[in-house]
Amino acid sequence: MLSRLQQLCAQFDPFRIDAFLVTFPPHLRYMSGFTGSNGVAIITKDGAALITDGRYSVQVREQVRGWKILITQGSLFEKIRAQRLLKPGMRVGFDGNTVLYSQFLALKKMFPKVKFLPKADVVEKLAAVKDANEIAKIRRAVEITDTTFAEILPLIKPGVPELDIAAEISYRQRKHGAEADAFESIVASGERSALPHGRATFKKIANGELLTLDFGAVYEGYHSDMTRTVAVGRIKPEAKKIYAVVRSAQEAAIEAAKSGIRGKELDAVARGVIRKKGYEKFFRHSLGHGIGLQIHEQPRISVMSTALLVPGNVVTIEPGVYIPHLGGVRIEDDVIIGETSCEVLNRSPKELLVL
Ligand code: ZN
Ligand code: ZN
Repeated sequence: MLSRLQQLCAQFDPFRIDAFLVTFPPHLRYMSGFTGSNGVAIITKDGAALITDGRYSVQVREQVRGWKILITQGSLFEKIRAQRLLKPGMRVGFDGNTVLYSQFLALKKMFPKVKFLPKADVVEKLAAVKDANEIAKIRRAVEITDTTFAEILPLIKPGVPELDIAAEISYRQRKHGAEADAFESIVASGERSALPHGRATFKKIANGELLTLDFGAVYEGYHSDMTRTVAVGRIKPEAKKIYAVVRSAQEAAIEAAKSGIRGKELDAVARGVIRKKGYEKFFRHSLGHGIGLQIHEQPRISVMSTALLVPGNVVTIEPGVYIPHLGGVRIEDDVIIGETSCEVLNRSPKELLVL
């Protein structure tokens, strides 16, 4: 198995570059192990250098091995120049999705004889294939989320504000070992459940409503992401019907998720089930996304995604149907892509829970 640095350098010839510059913290962490919020890496075939500021002088030396470490109180780019890490005539790749335009201009001005070439998702494509150590961390994050879901179910009652449930999710995930919430929890009840990204509000949960809970935990940098929709008391027959449609779409996609399928093909499996039931226009987001050091990363599973799934990808499968004024249903699990099938990490039940 090539190291992450070796895998990155293996792309230098096809990209016709001599070096790669990294600034985005999750990418820095993936490449070097450094978890600080400010740093620049210059990676060449001859070695890798990481420049950060004085706040991280102790931390960076604990976290990063085998790299040249440089600390500066001033501009990180200025330190690159002072150390002559980039030489005239070099072609330097960088991630065009995360380097700011102002940083690009500063680099061009500071290194007029160096060519800077934007590339898309170079580090993220490496990070899309998880090793055993990363998978163990994601499993732990998912366990924390599953345990928390079981604990909050008894707290869901008419009259309880959505924000109370969101607060309980955060508190309990931390108690079970999460270092943070993976994102601001979605707790959306009643008509608000028709908002795919309805953040928790002061609205009180009421009888007869659907309630969508979408949350996750971070464990050692790695994210989990799960959605369940539950019924509070008796819900309308159509709400039950859309629950059944979303569940069968989600299960069909899990059945189809394996190495060799493209993102858009997998998306089409779930979308096809929903289309057959007449709800396609109410499924208005992509089927899923990679999870790892970021909550949304490669590979994408959407109508447009040509990404080919391979063993070691960890992705979400999350179809949803959202009907204005009625409510919405989404069911989301995290899965590991294998050669001939996928492994579903979440253990939370998927039958409609009536609370
Ligand atoms: Zn989610
Ligand atoms: Zn998600």
